[in-house]
Amino acid sequence: MMLSSSKYGDITINRGVCSLLGYKIIIYLYLVDGLLIDCGASQLKRESSKFFQENNIGQVALSHVHEDHSGMAAWLQQNKNIPVYLHEMAIPQARKKGKYPLYRRVMWGNRPAFNPQPIPDILKTAQYTFEIIESPGHTEYHKVFYEKQQGWLFTGDLYVGAKQLVAFKDENMKDSIASLHKLLQLDFQTVFCAHAGVVDNGKAALQKKLEYLLDLQIKVESLRQQGMTNREIDQKLFPVIPLITRVSHGEWSSYNIISTI
Ligand SMILES: [Zn+2]
Repeated sequence: MMLSSSKYGDITINRGVCSLLGYKIIIYLYLVDGLLIDCGASQLKRESSKFFQENNIGQVALSHVHEDHSGMAAWLQQNKNIPVYLHEMAIPQARKKGKYPLYRRVMWGNRPAFNPQPIPDILKTAQYTFEIIESPGHTEYHKVFYEKQQGWLFTGDLYVGAKQLVAFKDENMKDSIASLHKLLQLDFQTVFCAHAGVVDNGKAALQKKLEYLLDLQIKVESLRQQGMTNREIDQKLFPVIPLITRVSHGEWSSYNIISTI
């Protein structure tokens, strides 16, 4: 675990690293004019609580409830007494302690129960106005944060990378495709991804991901028409089973892509 802070214009970026069996996953938190976007895993508690103490945070907005984005929400509520906003439909889940398999508890730590408020359609800071946009795909209840004047889009886990090889069990690729289509109508340049960091040419990156998924969708559709099952298509298009699929007992797999695209 390591963590460090840097600046991108007015945005303070906090970078933490969680690891499991050689996998290293970076978690980026963005603090914009007092608004903290996602709050990271409790595994990074020691370092991130220091960051939270040292900086002025007035409100917290979560893209979704997964434990690597919401693990420190309870801490923030208890220690800073500030509002935490989350997709309304994910609130019942947030109010219960996160229950998930051992490999995720080792990687991210526990996700204590917290008590968020429904995220509004618009969030304001002293200087900026964020439109909060429904963007299912990575998970059903997912929001992205759009600052039109600045051309910023904070994408939670909707992007992560252009070439997606495995999907989480909550993901629905048809929804991801629809969300990418919708977001690409907006006027933005910079993408702030929770795991890939700042993507300067963000619109092109999202476009690339959309094209990759549309291309995959055409391939899958044509194999289905030939009578192949999703399992057979998965084995044909993704013949190598990655370690994460074994470790996660299939929570992360290429099959989750094929079966929902
Ligand atoms: Zn997630």
